[in-house]
Amino acid sequence: MTASGILFVLCAPSGTGKSTLVRRLVAEFPNFAFSVSCTTRAPRPSERDGHDYHFLSHEEFIRRRETGFFAEWAEVHGNLYGTPKAATLELLAAGRDVLFDIDVQGARQLRSSLGQGAYVFLFPPSPEELSRRLLGRGTETPQSLARRMAAAKDEIAHSPEFDYWIVNDDLETAYQQLRAIYLAEKCRPQYQHAWQHIVQQAWGLS
Ligand code: ADP
Ligand code: 5GP
Repeated sequence: MTASGILFVLCAPSGTGKSTLVRRLVAEFPNFAFSVSCTTRAPRPSERDGHDYHFLSHEEFIRRRETGFFAEWAEVHGNLYGTPKAATLELLAAGRDVLFDIDVQGARQLRSSLGQGAYVFLFPPSPEELSRRLLGRGTETPQSLARRMAAAKDEIAHSPEFDYWIVNDDLETAYQQLRAIYLAEKCRPQYQHAWQHIVQQAWGLS
């Protein structure tokens, strides 16, 4: 494909610090657009349809899935989630860098269906620190904490499939590593169509 934007996938067990890092990355680099997924889960009070997610009925999700609407899809915690393929390709073709908040199953499918991108896995420094962060958010019951810790183990088992690993121990170090990956990826020739054109003209290459 000839897209010039970067498909940037960041996966992490819940509570690791992904949202904290992503907020800083999009604030520093406004060329990022978020991929808005479709889901069958009910909206939370603060969520807006079309902004946080496209909220679909189960039937509508299945119908779209059968037409090849999704670049990837997965069932997470009993709900269906999917990335709309055409919208993603349009953003990339327009030169936007697209950031994905998807689970590890989705990351694997996205790589095989779109065949490009930078895939980053973010680790918590230890299981103890992950439970401290989850408890620190004040959103977990003992049952949901145990569920998230078990899910974290499953996700970490998939970490060898990723291109880059970052350990979110010291936040500043982790952020510097994340932005370094992004900046290095932008230097790949496939993302530099405008410069390629200039070089061809200037040096008489075709
Ligand atoms: P996620 O999006 O991965 O679920 P959050 O960004 O919501 O995680 O972070 C979970 C909690 O951990 C928050 O309270 C956040 O302030 C804290 N946190 C994030 N990164 C670090 C870090 N490097 N050191 C200590 N606490 C952190
Ligand atoms: P939440 O319901 O809390 O917003 O998201 C739950 C989980 O679903 C998170 O791990 C998130 O990364 C994942 N998720 C959200 N959208 C998608 C998607 O389009 N595809 C996949 N595979 N996972 C998604």
